[in-house]
Amino acid sequence: MKHYKPNKVYVSSEVIKKLKWVDDEIEALKKEHRFIVPRILNSAQKPISIIDGKKVINLTSNNYLAMTDEEEVKKAAIDAIKKYGVGTAAVRTIIGTMDIHRELEIKFAKFKNTEDSILFQSGFTSNVAVCQTLMNSEDYLLISDELNHASIIDGARLAKAPRKIYRHKDMNHLKEILESEESRKAKRKLIVTDGVFSMDGDIAPLVQIVELANKYDAMVMVDDAHASGVIGDNGRGTVNYFKLDGKVEIQIGTLSKAFAAVGGYAATTKKLRDYLGSVARPFLFSSSQPPSVAATCIKILELLMKRPEYLKKLWENTKFFKEELKKYGFDIGESVTPITPIMIGDSEKAVRFSNMLFQEGVFALSIVYPTVPKGKERIRTIVTRGHTIKDLEFAISKFVKVGRKLGIIN
Ligand code: PMP
Repeated sequence: MKHYKPNKVYVSSEVIKKLKWVDDEIEALKKEHRFIVPRILNSAQKPISIIDGKKVINLTSNNYLAMTDEEEVKKAAIDAIKKYGVGTAAVRTIIGTMDIHRELEIKFAKFKNTEDSILFQSGFTSNVAVCQTLMNSEDYLLISDELNHASIIDGARLAKAPRKIYRHKDMNHLKEILESEESRKAKRKLIVTDGVFSMDGDIAPLVQIVELANKYDAMVMVDDAHASGVIGDNGRGTVNYFKLDGKVEIQIGTLSKAFAAVGGYAATTKKLRDYLGSVARPFLFSSSQPPSVAATCIKILELLMKRPEYLKKLWENTKFFKEELKKYGFDIGESVTPITPIMIGDSEKAVRFSNMLFQEGVFALSIVYPTVPKGKERIRTIVTRGHTIKDLEFAISKFVKVGRKLGIIN
């Protein structure tokens, strides 16, 4: 395994002096077990990967459909490179829109049962773009679940509208906010929620959210990063899962999880799509995806329609893994999706758990503050359709071994 070390180059004493503060920051992070040195993949992202030179069962990626290394998908990406080259070298509104981008937007829209969709450079920027653009006045109100993804929080920070946070999935609290003076005065309201919550794997109560939104005249935006390609008919997401097609203003998806590439999109009405395409800052000021990314997603959409057995296997694996963990007494929270947290409640122990698992041949990352609140530290796992039951049995046996050693289970 090759190790890449920092370059030995000249750095002036002035630069060293001015950056002295970084030493203190790093020290503080280390004390809180928050200094991150990521493990390195030496293979494709796969159910069994080579990580830091070691062959391990990989339970950490968002590769739900195990499409990152699928032959047909790779071929589609390579064909697109041959036809269109490797990049666009332009933002969408200048000359960075290729026909394959529009093809994907229309295909994602069809997948989400919406009129149209608009691509952004990531799921993160999709959330930022929509929150910032739709909530661009102090007269509006953005209402957000407390466990929404960081990109929604940052989007809300960039918006000019004030924001109100409701307790996780607490519909009484949401109603209270919608009935408040501030809400009644707001000229435009947007309720934002993750469809599947990324750290806990639970699902938003969308039926109730849409009911309240209609009663109090608020728009709804659902971030389905972890639901697209995972839940609903052919993986259409939580809106479809709850039979709310046509009843939600904006659905966000990402291309970086089940869709194996990188990027994001907002599926919505044609008019809102075109409005975003004229004013959303990430769309206007950051370049478009390489055409191979669009080809990757077009192929995966095709496979999702053609091969329902992929989703079936993902859910069989999910069910098996959860049941086994529960059987051995692990606390797996409220998860009902392929994201399964194993609650530890202490950052040092969570990091140790993950490291010990790795030594045993299983990679499952510890998640600590600030990604999750203090006291909610955990190991977070995601099974993919590419894992075999044998892989999962092996992983469980190691969870049990380490869990007993660390006193997490009896
Ligand atoms: N929303 C949620 C719920 C996520 O979990 C993530 C990924 N961590 C994102 C948005 C951002 O997606 P991307 O990685 O495509 O930027």
